Amino acid sequence: MRRWLVAGNWKMNNTIEEAIKLATTVRENTYDIKGGDIILAPPYTLLHGVKEVIEGSNIFLAAQNMFYEDKGAYTGEISPAMIKDAGCTYVIIGHSERRKYFGETDEVVNLKTKKALKEGLKPIVCVGETDVERDKGITSYVVGIQVRKALYGIEFSEDIVIAYEPVWAIGTGRNATSEQAEEVHRFIRGILKELYGTPSERTRILYGGSVTADNIGELINMENIDGALVGGASLKSDSFVGIIRKVSENRKC
Ligand code: PEP
Repeated sequence: MRRWLVAGNWKMNNTIEEAIKLATTVRENTYDIKGGDIILAPPYTLLHGVKEVIEGSNIFLAAQNMFYEDKGAYTGEISPAMIKDAGCTYVIIGHSERRKYFGETDEVVNLKTKKALKEGLKPIVCVGETDVERDKGITSYVVGIQVRKALYGIEFSEDIVIAYEPVWAIGTGRNATSEQAEEVHRFIRGILKELYGTPSERTRILYGGSVTADNIGELINMENIDGALVGGASLKSDSFVGIIRKVSENRKC
């Protein structure tokens, strides 16, 4: 069955000293955990330092973003080759904060997803509705468009990971209930099945949005929730390791 996955998105936090301390503690406290994948996604400047800490462990490195061009006059951007060179296996694409503050569209998300796969990176593609959209009852419509547009023209690859992150649950302390999350995860799996047939059963779909060690146990029990993309709670080793342990212990399949 699908391997679980827990990714820590550090966002714009930590100095190199703090990063090395946090990554070292996560490494020391997760070495015995098997059956899934653990990912750390620090800011670009910390990738190399964190890579040195996790080398030889069961922890993978992810970037929080990348550009879809190889090189050139794109001040402030970073290429897939550069993040690979820094040690990344995964890359987060289309996080709602990128969509909200940096104007990333579904078209850009599609270009980045295509490019990541072409360069051998595993994209974690983020989708999710706002509170206004949920209140209007158009969650499926919004998420459906985001998933279809992100994957437009892309062949099946087991490397694609989808993260369902309701915008109203990110950093708010208000997580989706396991039923609310599972409903959308099941819907996303239906779209994947339509696009890719049986192989889509291997695609991992993560939940993100105020995940803690207290609420992940119920979420991970759901059939179509394969792990978590964690923001705030990944900045403290105790809470992040707690989430990873709960996932590894409670995952049914
Ligand atoms: C995120 O940044 O992807 C996220 C889900 O944040 P938080 O866990 O803090 O809600």
